Amino acid sequence: MSITLSTRLRDVRGSAIRDLLALTARPEVISLAGGLPGNELLPRERIAAALAAAVTEPAAVQYGETAGLRSLREVLAQHESRRLGRAVDPACVVVTSGSQQALDLVARALLDPGDPVVVEDPVYVGALQVFQAAGAQLNPVPVDADGMAVDVLADRLARGLRPRLVHTVSNFHNPRGATLSAPRRALLAELAERYGFLVVEDDPYGMLAFDGSPPAPVAAHGDRVVRLGSASKVLAPALRVGWLAGPAPLCAAVERLKQSTDLCTSSLTQLVTAELLADDAWFAAHLDQLRTALRERATALTGALATVFGDAATGSVPKGGMFCWLEFSDGTRPADLLPRALEHGVGFVPGTAFAVGQDLSAAARLCFASNPPGELHTAVERLGAAWRAGGT
Ligand code: PMP
Repeated sequence: MSITLSTRLRDVRGSAIRDLLALTARPEVISLAGGLPGNELLPRERIAAALAAAVTEPAAVQYGETAGLRSLREVLAQHESRRLGRAVDPACVVVTSGSQQALDLVARALLDPGDPVVVEDPVYVGALQVFQAAGAQLNPVPVDADGMAVDVLADRLARGLRPRLVHTVSNFHNPRGATLSAPRRALLAELAERYGFLVVEDDPYGMLAFDGSPPAPVAAHGDRVVRLGSASKVLAPALRVGWLAGPAPLCAAVERLKQSTDLCTSSLTQLVTAELLADDAWFAAHLDQLRTALRERATALTGALATVFGDAATGSVPKGGMFCWLEFSDGTRPADLLPRALEHGVGFVPGTAFAVGQDLSAAARLCFASNPPGELHTAVERLGAAWRAGGT
Protein backbone atom coordinates (compact mmCIF):
# COMPACT_ATOMS: atom_id res chain seq x y z
CA MET A 1 0.00 0.00 0.00
CA SER A 2 1.36 3.43 -0.76
CA ILE A 3 0.94 6.04 1.94
CA THR A 4 1.57 9.72 1.41
CA LEU A 5 3.77 11.03 4.20
CA SER A 6 3.82 14.58 5.48
CA THR A 7 6.38 16.97 4.02
CA ARG A 8 7.91 17.28 7.46
CA LEU A 9 8.55 13.56 7.77
CA ARG A 10 10.12 13.39 4.33
CA ASP A 11 12.81 15.76 5.61
CA VAL A 12 13.70 13.57 8.61
CA ARG A 13 16.85 11.57 8.11
CA GLY A 14 16.67 8.10 9.72
CA SER A 15 19.22 7.57 12.47
CA ALA A 16 22.20 5.68 11.01
CA ILE A 17 23.02 4.75 14.59
CA ARG A 18 19.71 3.07 15.27
CA ASP A 19 20.15 1.09 12.00
CA LEU A 20 23.68 0.16 13.01
CA LEU A 21 22.55 -1.06 16.42
CA ALA A 22 20.70 -3.90 14.68
CA LEU A 23 24.00 -5.10 13.14
CA THR A 24 25.99 -4.72 16.33
CA ALA A 25 23.37 -6.64 18.33
CA ARG A 26 24.83 -9.94 17.06
CA PRO A 27 26.32 -11.72 20.09
CA GLU A 28 29.76 -12.13 18.48
CA VAL A 29 30.08 -8.37 17.95
CA ILE A 30 31.45 -6.13 20.72
CA SER A 31 29.54 -2.91 20.24
CA LEU A 32 31.13 0.47 20.83
CA ALA A 33 28.29 1.91 18.77
CA GLY A 34 25.37 2.52 21.12
CA GLY A 35 25.38 5.35 23.64
CA LEU A 36 24.37 3.36 26.66
CA PRO A 37 25.72 2.35 30.05
CA GLY A 38 26.38 -1.40 30.42
CA ASN A 39 23.63 -3.29 32.28
CA GLU A 40 26.11 -4.18 35.03
CA LEU A 41 26.45 -0.45 35.81
CA LEU A 42 22.73 0.06 36.36
CA PRO A 43 21.41 -0.16 39.94
CA ARG A 44 18.97 -2.95 39.20
CA GLU A 45 18.44 -4.19 42.75
CA ARG A 46 17.78 -0.70 44.07
CA ILE A 47 15.37 -0.07 41.20
CA ALA A 48 13.58 -3.38 41.91
CA ALA A 49 13.16 -2.44 45.58
CA ALA A 50 11.90 1.05 44.70
CA LEU A 51 9.48 -0.40 42.15
CA ALA A 52 8.08 -2.86 44.68
CA ALA A 53 7.56 -0.06 47.18
CA ALA A 54 6.15 2.36 44.61
CA VAL A 55 3.54 -0.02 43.26
CA THR A 56 1.82 -0.18 46.63
CA GLU A 57 0.96 3.54 46.33
CA PRO A 58 -2.34 4.31 44.55
CA ALA A 59 -0.69 7.10 42.51
CA ALA A 60 1.72 4.60 40.97
CA VAL A 61 -0.92 2.86 38.93
CA GLN A 62 -2.78 5.98 37.81
CA TYR A 63 -2.43 8.83 35.38
CA GLY A 64 -0.59 11.73 36.95
CA GLU A 65 -0.30 15.47 36.34
CA THR A 66 1.02 16.23 32.86
CA ALA A 67 3.91 18.30 34.21
CA GLY A 68 5.02 15.42 36.41
CA LEU A 69 4.58 14.16 39.96
CA ARG A 70 5.07 16.87 42.53
CA SER A 71 7.55 14.77 44.55
CA LEU A 72 9.79 14.27 41.52
CA ARG A 73 9.61 17.88 40.38
CA GLU A 74 10.63 18.95 43.88
CA VAL A 75 13.67 16.73 43.99
CA LEU A 76 14.65 17.71 40.44
CA ALA A 77 14.32 21.39 41.36
CA GLN A 78 16.64 20.77 44.33
CA HIS A 79 19.22 19.06 42.12
CA GLU A 80 19.01 21.90 39.58
CA SER A 81 19.30 24.52 42.34
CA ARG A 82 22.54 22.91 43.50
CA ARG A 83 23.94 22.87 39.99
CA LEU A 84 22.97 26.47 39.21
CA GLY A 85 23.77 27.98 42.59
CA ARG A 86 20.33 29.64 42.76
CA ALA A 87 16.82 28.52 43.71
CA VAL A 88 14.85 26.73 40.98
CA ASP A 89 11.06 26.65 41.45
CA PRO A 90 9.50 23.17 40.97
CA ALA A 91 6.86 24.98 38.88
CA CYS A 92 9.63 25.63 36.33
CA VAL A 93 10.38 21.91 35.94
CA VAL A 94 8.45 19.60 33.59
CA VAL A 95 8.97 15.84 33.69
CA THR A 96 9.08 14.20 30.27
CA SER A 97 9.26 10.69 28.82
CA GLY A 98 13.04 10.79 28.41
CA SER A 99 14.88 14.01 27.65
CA GLN A 100 14.36 13.21 23.98
CA GLN A 101 10.70 14.11 24.47
CA ALA A 102 11.70 17.35 26.20
CA LEU A 103 13.77 18.27 23.15
CA ASP A 104 10.91 17.47 20.81
CA LEU A 105 8.36 19.44 22.84
CA VAL A 106 10.66 22.46 23.16
CA ALA A 107 11.23 22.44 19.39
CA ARG A 108 7.52 22.15 18.67
CA ALA A 109 6.72 24.87 21.19
CA LEU A 110 9.17 27.34 19.68
CA LEU A 111 9.59 26.62 16.00
CA ASP A 112 7.60 27.24 12.87
CA PRO A 113 8.71 25.58 9.63
CA GLY A 114 11.65 27.47 8.14
CA ASP A 115 12.76 29.00 11.44
CA PRO A 116 16.54 29.06 11.83
CA VAL A 117 18.13 26.99 14.59
CA VAL A 118 21.78 26.51 15.46
CA VAL A 119 23.00 22.95 15.90
CA GLU A 120 26.43 21.62 16.73
CA ASP A 121 28.57 19.91 14.12
CA PRO A 122 29.08 17.04 14.87
CA VAL A 123 25.52 16.93 16.18
CA TYR A 124 23.59 14.75 18.60
CA VAL A 125 21.59 12.82 15.99
CA GLY A 126 18.42 12.80 18.11
CA ALA A 127 18.46 16.61 18.07
CA LEU A 128 18.98 16.71 14.34
CA GLN A 129 15.92 14.49 13.87
CA VAL A 130 13.81 16.69 16.12
CA PHE A 131 14.76 19.88 14.28
CA GLN A 132 14.25 18.26 10.89
CA ALA A 133 10.81 17.04 11.98
CA ALA A 134 10.00 20.60 13.05
CA GLY A 135 10.95 21.82 9.57
CA ALA A 136 13.66 24.08 10.97
CA GLN A 137 16.46 25.60 8.93
CA LEU A 138 19.72 24.12 10.28
CA ASN A 139 22.77 26.29 10.90
CA PRO A 140 25.70 24.13 12.00
CA VAL A 141 28.48 25.50 14.22
CA PRO A 142 31.61 23.37 14.67
CA VAL A 143 32.50 21.65 17.94
CA ASP A 144 36.15 21.40 18.96
CA ALA A 145 37.93 20.10 22.08
CA ASP A 146 36.36 22.97 24.11
CA GLY A 147 32.82 22.35 22.90
CA MET A 148 30.82 24.51 20.51
CA ALA A 149 32.90 27.22 18.81
CA VAL A 150 30.88 30.07 20.32
CA ASP A 151 33.19 32.63 18.68
CA VAL A 152 32.09 31.30 15.27
CA LEU A 153 28.47 31.63 16.39
CA ALA A 154 29.12 35.21 17.57
CA ASP A 155 30.53 36.04 14.17
CA ARG A 156 27.49 34.64 12.33
CA LEU A 157 25.16 36.52 14.66
CA ALA A 158 27.07 39.72 14.02
CA ARG A 159 26.56 39.08 10.30
CA GLY A 160 22.80 38.76 10.67
CA LEU A 161 21.91 35.18 11.68
CA ARG A 162 18.85 35.30 13.97
CA PRO A 163 18.15 31.77 15.32
CA ARG A 164 15.10 30.97 17.45
CA LEU A 165 17.20 28.55 19.48
CA VAL A 166 20.72 27.18 19.86
CA HIS A 167 21.12 23.55 20.86
CA THR A 168 24.23 22.49 22.76
CA VAL A 169 25.36 19.38 24.62
CA SER A 170 27.46 21.29 27.10
CA ASN A 171 29.03 18.40 29.05
CA PHE A 172 30.89 15.38 27.65
CA HIS A 173 29.41 15.94 24.25
CA ASN A 174 27.65 13.26 22.26
CA PRO A 175 29.46 12.39 19.99
CA ARG A 176 32.60 14.56 20.39
CA GLY A 177 33.25 13.90 24.11
CA ALA A 178 34.13 17.60 24.62
CA THR A 179 32.97 19.94 27.39
CA LEU A 180 32.06 23.56 26.70
CA SER A 181 34.64 25.79 28.40
CA ALA A 182 33.56 28.26 31.11
CA PRO A 183 34.31 31.39 29.01
CA ARG A 184 32.30 29.97 26.10
CA ARG A 185 29.38 29.28 28.45
CA ALA A 186 29.38 32.87 29.66
CA LEU A 187 29.61 34.20 26.11
CA LEU A 188 26.79 31.94 24.90
CA ALA A 189 24.46 33.16 27.66
CA GLU A 190 25.38 36.76 26.84
CA LEU A 191 24.71 36.25 23.12
CA ALA A 192 21.32 34.73 23.97
CA GLU A 193 20.43 37.94 25.83
CA ARG A 194 21.80 40.20 23.12
CA TYR A 195 20.14 38.47 20.16
CA GLY A 196 17.02 37.13 21.89
CA PHE A 197 17.39 33.41 21.23
CA LEU A 198 16.93 30.53 23.66
CA VAL A 199 19.78 28.16 24.51
CA VAL A 200 18.73 24.50 24.84
CA GLU A 201 21.35 23.10 27.19
CA ASP A 202 21.02 19.36 26.67
CA ASP A 203 22.81 17.82 29.63
CA PRO A 204 22.30 14.09 30.19
CA TYR A 205 26.01 13.52 30.98
CA GLY A 206 26.82 16.36 33.42
CA MET A 207 26.66 14.09 36.49
CA LEU A 208 29.26 11.77 34.98
CA ALA A 209 32.46 13.82 35.46
CA PHE A 210 35.41 11.59 36.34
CA ASP A 211 36.99 14.25 38.61
CA GLY A 212 35.15 17.11 40.29
CA SER A 213 32.30 18.68 38.34
CA PRO A 214 32.07 20.40 34.96
CA PRO A 215 31.97 24.23 34.85
CA ALA A 216 28.74 25.90 36.02
CA PRO A 217 25.92 25.31 33.49
CA VAL A 218 25.19 27.86 30.75
CA ALA A 219 21.96 28.48 32.70
CA ALA A 220 24.04 29.78 35.62
CA HIS A 221 25.13 32.66 33.35
CA GLY A 222 21.72 33.85 32.16
CA ASP A 223 17.96 33.34 31.99
CA ARG A 224 17.46 32.59 28.32
CA VAL A 225 18.33 28.92 28.80
CA VAL A 226 16.28 25.77 29.12
CA ARG A 227 18.13 22.82 30.62
CA LEU A 228 17.31 19.23 29.71
CA GLY A 229 18.19 16.39 32.08
CA SER A 230 17.77 12.63 32.09
CA ALA A 231 17.67 9.61 34.36
CA SER A 232 18.85 7.44 31.45
CA LYS A 233 22.59 7.70 31.95
CA VAL A 234 22.66 7.73 35.75
CA LEU A 235 19.83 5.33 36.68
CA ALA A 236 18.44 3.42 33.67
CA PRO A 237 17.32 4.33 30.14
CA ALA A 238 14.23 2.11 30.49
CA LEU A 239 12.75 4.36 33.17
CA ARG A 240 12.12 6.86 30.33
CA VAL A 241 12.28 9.75 32.74
CA GLY A 242 13.73 13.06 31.61
CA TRP A 243 12.98 16.67 32.45
CA LEU A 244 13.33 20.25 31.43
CA ALA A 245 13.94 23.24 33.67
CA GLY A 246 13.55 26.71 32.23
CA PRO A 247 11.45 29.86 31.84
CA ALA A 248 7.90 29.51 33.20
CA PRO A 249 6.13 30.47 29.92
CA LEU A 250 8.08 27.77 28.07
CA CYS A 251 7.20 25.18 30.73
CA ALA A 252 3.52 26.09 30.36
CA ALA A 253 3.69 25.73 26.56
CA VAL A 254 5.51 22.40 26.81
CA GLU A 255 2.96 21.13 29.32
CA ARG A 256 0.13 22.03 26.93
CA LEU A 257 1.82 20.16 24.07
CA LYS A 258 2.63 17.18 26.26
CA GLN A 259 -1.07 16.81 27.08
CA SER A 260 -1.72 15.95 23.45
CA THR A 261 1.41 13.81 23.12
CA ASP A 262 1.16 11.29 25.95
CA LEU A 263 -0.98 12.81 28.73
CA CYS A 264 1.77 12.14 31.27
CA THR A 265 4.99 10.25 31.85
CA SER A 266 4.64 6.87 33.62
CA SER A 267 3.76 7.53 37.26
CA LEU A 268 5.42 4.28 38.26
CA THR A 269 8.85 5.13 36.93
CA GLN A 270 8.52 8.74 38.13
CA LEU A 271 7.98 7.46 41.68
CA VAL A 272 11.02 5.19 41.38
CA THR A 273 13.15 8.04 40.03
CA ALA A 274 11.97 10.40 42.78
CA GLU A 275 12.82 7.89 45.47
CA LEU A 276 16.31 7.18 44.09
CA LEU A 277 17.22 10.81 43.44
CA ALA A 278 15.94 11.91 46.85
CA ASP A 279 18.11 9.36 48.65
CA ASP A 280 21.16 11.66 48.74
CA ALA A 281 23.57 9.25 50.42
CA TRP A 282 22.67 6.35 48.15
CA PHE A 283 22.68 8.44 44.98
CA ALA A 284 26.06 10.01 45.77
CA ALA A 285 27.59 6.59 46.43
CA HIS A 286 26.02 5.18 43.26
CA LEU A 287 27.33 8.08 41.16
CA ASP A 288 30.80 7.60 42.65
CA GLN A 289 30.81 3.94 41.64
CA LEU A 290 29.48 4.72 38.20
CA ARG A 291 32.07 7.43 37.56
CA THR A 292 34.89 5.19 38.78
CA ALA A 293 33.77 2.37 36.47
CA LEU A 294 33.41 4.76 33.53
CA ARG A 295 36.86 6.26 34.16
CA GLU A 296 38.40 2.77 34.20
CA ARG A 297 36.68 1.98 30.95
CA ALA A 298 37.76 5.24 29.33
CA THR A 299 41.38 4.63 30.40
CA ALA A 300 41.26 1.07 29.02
CA LEU A 301 39.87 2.23 25.69
CA THR A 302 42.21 5.18 25.14
CA GLY A 303 45.25 3.14 26.27
CA ALA A 304 44.41 0.35 23.82
CA LEU A 305 43.79 2.85 21.01
CA ALA A 306 47.20 4.45 21.56
CA THR A 307 48.92 1.03 21.54
CA VAL A 308 47.13 -0.26 18.44
CA PHE A 309 47.01 2.85 16.25
CA GLY A 310 50.08 4.82 17.40
CA ASP A 311 50.39 7.96 15.28
CA ALA A 312 47.80 6.83 12.74
CA ALA A 313 44.86 7.98 14.88
CA THR A 314 44.26 10.26 17.86
CA GLY A 315 41.59 9.60 20.44
CA SER A 316 40.09 12.40 22.54
CA VAL A 317 40.86 12.14 26.26
CA PRO A 318 37.48 11.67 27.97
CA LYS A 319 37.00 13.57 31.26
CA GLY A 320 33.51 12.17 31.80
CA GLY A 321 30.48 10.80 30.01
CA MET A 322 30.57 7.86 27.66
CA PHE A 323 32.30 8.78 24.40
CA CYS A 324 35.72 8.91 22.82
CA TRP A 325 36.18 10.63 19.45
CA LEU A 326 38.82 8.97 17.29
CA GLU A 327 40.39 10.82 14.36
CA PHE A 328 42.53 9.03 11.78
CA SER A 329 45.38 10.89 10.15
CA ASP A 330 46.50 8.10 7.79
CA GLY A 331 43.70 8.38 5.25
CA THR A 332 41.48 5.74 6.91
CA ARG A 333 37.79 6.44 6.44
CA PRO A 334 35.85 4.85 9.32
CA ALA A 335 32.72 4.47 7.15
CA ASP A 336 34.79 2.20 4.85
CA LEU A 337 36.41 0.45 7.82
CA LEU A 338 33.07 -0.37 9.46
CA PRO A 339 31.99 -3.38 7.33
CA ARG A 340 35.42 -5.00 7.89
CA ALA A 341 35.28 -4.13 11.58
CA LEU A 342 31.89 -5.85 11.89
CA GLU A 343 33.37 -8.94 10.20
CA HIS A 344 36.13 -8.86 12.81
CA GLY A 345 33.50 -8.57 15.57
CA VAL A 346 33.49 -4.91 16.58
CA GLY A 347 31.08 -2.08 15.87
CA PHE A 348 31.33 1.73 16.18
CA VAL A 349 29.71 4.78 14.58
CA PRO A 350 31.53 6.62 11.76
CA GLY A 351 31.83 10.39 12.18
CA THR A 352 29.84 10.96 8.99
CA ALA A 353 26.69 9.88 10.86
CA PHE A 354 26.98 13.06 12.98
CA ALA A 355 28.03 15.49 10.25
CA VAL A 356 25.81 18.42 9.37
CA GLY A 357 28.16 20.50 7.19
CA GLN A 358 31.67 19.46 8.22
CA ASP A 359 33.76 16.73 6.63
CA LEU A 360 33.96 14.17 9.45
CA SER A 361 34.96 11.26 7.22
CA ALA A 362 38.20 10.65 9.19
CA ALA A 363 36.46 10.40 12.57
CA ALA A 364 34.54 7.81 14.58
CA ARG A 365 32.60 7.75 17.85
CA LEU A 366 33.51 4.99 20.28
CA CYS A 367 31.38 4.42 23.38
CA PHE A 368 33.36 3.07 26.31
CA ALA A 369 30.40 2.78 28.72
CA SER A 370 28.80 -0.43 27.47
CA ASN A 371 31.69 -2.88 27.98
CA PRO A 372 34.13 -3.72 30.79
CA PRO A 373 37.87 -2.97 30.30
CA GLY A 374 38.81 -6.50 29.12
CA GLU A 375 36.17 -6.40 26.37
CA LEU A 376 37.30 -2.93 25.35
CA HIS A 377 40.86 -4.23 24.88
CA THR A 378 39.55 -7.08 22.72
CA ALA A 379 37.37 -4.65 20.76
CA VAL A 380 40.33 -2.38 19.95
CA GLU A 381 42.50 -5.37 18.96
CA ARG A 382 39.75 -6.43 16.56
CA LEU A 383 39.49 -2.89 15.24
CA GLY A 384 43.25 -2.85 14.69
CA ALA A 385 43.09 -6.18 12.82
CA ALA A 386 40.31 -4.83 10.57
CA TRP A 387 42.32 -1.65 9.98
CA ARG A 388 45.49 -3.56 9.07
CA ALA A 389 43.48 -5.83 6.79
CA GLY A 390 42.34 -2.71 4.92
CA GLY A 391 45.93 -1.88 4.07
CA THR A 392 45.75 1.84 4.81
N1 PMP B 1 20.42 14.23 24.60
C1 PMP B 1 21.60 13.64 24.36
C2 PMP B 1 22.80 14.49 24.10
C3 PMP B 1 21.72 12.25 24.36
O1 PMP B 1 22.91 11.69 24.12
C4 PMP B 1 20.56 11.46 24.61
C5 PMP B 1 20.60 9.95 24.62
N2 PMP B 1 21.38 9.36 23.67
C6 PMP B 1 19.35 12.13 24.84
C7 PMP B 1 19.32 13.51 24.84
C8 PMP B 1 18.06 11.39 25.08
O2 PMP B 1 18.09 10.63 26.23
P1 PMP B 1 16.79 10.12 26.98
O3 PMP B 1 15.61 10.37 26.10
O4 PMP B 1 17.03 8.66 27.21
O5 PMP B 1 16.72 10.90 28.24
